[in-house]
Amino acid sequence: MKAIVFREGSQWAVEDVPTPEPARGEVLLEVIRTGVCGTDEHLLHGGFIAKLPLIPGHEILGRVVALGEGVTSPAVGTVVTVDNTIHCGECGPCLTGRALFCENFVSLGCNEAGGFAEYVAVRAAKTFSADGLDVATAGLAEPTACAMHGADMLALKPGSEVLIFGAGPTGLILAQLLKTTGAARVVVAAPTASKLALAKEFGADETVQMDRGNADAAEAALRALAPNGFDAVVEATGSTAVLELGIRLTATGGTVLVYGLAGEDATASIRPYEIFSRELTIKGSFAQAFTMQRSMTALRSGAIKTEGIVTDVVGFDDFSRALSNLGDSSQVKTVFEPGKGL
Ligand SMILES: [Zn+2]
Ligand SMILES: [Zn+2]
Repeated sequence: MKAIVFREGSQWAVEDVPTPEPARGEVLLEVIRTGVCGTDEHLLHGGFIAKLPLIPGHEILGRVVALGEGVTSPAVGTVVTVDNTIHCGECGPCLTGRALFCENFVSLGCNEAGGFAEYVAVRAAKTFSADGLDVATAGLAEPTACAMHGADMLALKPGSEVLIFGAGPTGLILAQLLKTTGAARVVVAAPTASKLALAKEFGADETVQMDRGNADAAEAALRALAPNGFDAVVEATGSTAVLELGIRLTATGGTVLVYGLAGEDATASIRPYEIFSRELTIKGSFAQAFTMQRSMTALRSGAIKTEGIVTDVVGFDDFSRALSNLGDSSQVKTVFEPGKGL
């Protein structure tokens, strides 16, 4: 089969590789589409938990074409989304109910073969029927599940005022989700006007356009919107400067959620006295964690809208655009379709 392969030295190519065989407990999927994510760029450069060479792609939608030993469902032909994480069930964290921190953590598309390929083998038990969802919506199930874990981590009190930095797929989905989990007011701040317009369409109460060269103006505009600060601030850009700004804009007693993926060695400067005297809470959220089923329900119910999030579709021939789009602020989400152009 054909697959995108990331190799050492930030190299990638379309390669011919053996089609995977579904092992015991697995199903083989013919990939329909796989979302491209900022994480993929970190993986290309060997960051996050990359194990190179790697077939990346962790936001997988596919059709079941073969069943491994012992598998009775989902039936061949079923279109499914995938929880791409695998926990060993036997290590310390797994045995103490903290499987997300499994010492043998496997994430398809990060440290095992993922969905930028014609076929991918996945655990049958970690597939979710996409019945009743169109391809565009079902293809966003994994980022929705990640956002849902973020919402779980925030655990907002009803009536909260929330600020989200970033209007990428995560910011756009979280803005909607947090409205269902306690936010009375959601403000989205980002540099790109078209993305902020989409955030408004999805129900954000206010938006603030941030000029990266003039952070002071953005801070003043946000402070004017919430003079006492926001009960919760979500940093969904990966920028350390934005994190520092977010801490300043958090209300006393409030919570900052670190959601964006910063470089492993990036550092932000915080004042311990501020955390201490204002009793701030800083939380992290790094992956979806047992949230796929609820993500499918939220998408099916219409509570989370997705129209307009996918802005480009690439195949094998034009995959380079998947990567260049990540640096193009007019793009929201690119998806890879192996069947495109065939
Ligand atoms: Zn992702
Ligand atoms: Zn484990």
